[in-house]
Amino acid sequence: MTRRKPTVHLVGAGPGDPELLTLKAVRAIRAATVLLVDDLVGAGVLRYARKSARIVHVGKRGGCASTPQAFIEKLMAAEALKGERVVRLKGGDPFVFGRGGEEAEHLRALGIAVEVVNGITAGLAAVTSLGAPLTHREHAHGVMFVTGHARGEDATVHWPTLAAAAAQGLTLVIYMGIAKVESLQRGLLEGLSADTPVAVVQHASLPNQRDVQCRLGDLAAAIEREGIGSPAIIVVGDVLLAVQSLAQRAGVHRVA
Ligand code: SAH
Repeated sequence: MTRRKPTVHLVGAGPGDPELLTLKAVRAIRAATVLLVDDLVGAGVLRYARKSARIVHVGKRGGCASTPQAFIEKLMAAEALKGERVVRLKGGDPFVFGRGGEEAEHLRALGIAVEVVNGITAGLAAVTSLGAPLTHREHAHGVMFVTGHARGEDATVHWPTLAAAAAQGLTLVIYMGIAKVESLQRGLLEGLSADTPVAVVQHASLPNQRDVQCRLGDLAAAIEREGIGSPAIIVVGDVLLAVQSLAQRAGVHRVA
């Protein structure tokens, strides 16, 4: 019998709702003998794992005590080289933030094959859950997915530049933006009007999902007022106009 080439599957677990897993993801999870699981992976997703599978939680939320990245990479490689069927389960899509790219490079450098299974990224699920599209022929010709938490001080996002692009008709979808929301808001106001529609969606696709819809000028205050925390997506742009006016007409006083 020929031995399988050591392989790690980097699998997107989607935003949380297990119904949003792809069939490929379910197949990989079912076949896994070892699963390394991020903390943003919805608990319901693990119901597809074998009872005998070894499940290692390697959560590492920004700022919290966490499993060092080097340890995760070492463990994945060691298990794959032992012949285990390794699944690295990551929230959303494995290649949208969350270091999937770095993990793939590390594994490939060790001669380990990497199979990537896409997942529905949180930004997509968050905007869709509001009933808003990401693009719209009348006012949004594209989408920018941006992290509000870039590595190192020098790598901080230049919000006024992004605001200028958003003003051209690009929807802005911000991951990991809650912690630095004041500076993000200040920067965006240099290129966008205070009236620009904004929404914040926490726990998108899960039963405890919450959202707040407001205007850019009121963003940080609205997050504070509503007690919205991480994990959340901030969406900025006119694609929200349709849902915000519907909310107003229905007498839902969410628009600040
Ligand atoms: N690979 C993931 C993103 C990892 S970065 C993806 O494609 O979705 C982690 C950030 O994703 C969080 O800080 C938050 O901004 C966002 N996020 C992940 N799951 C979320 C959810 N269910 N609801 C809202 N935001 C979420």
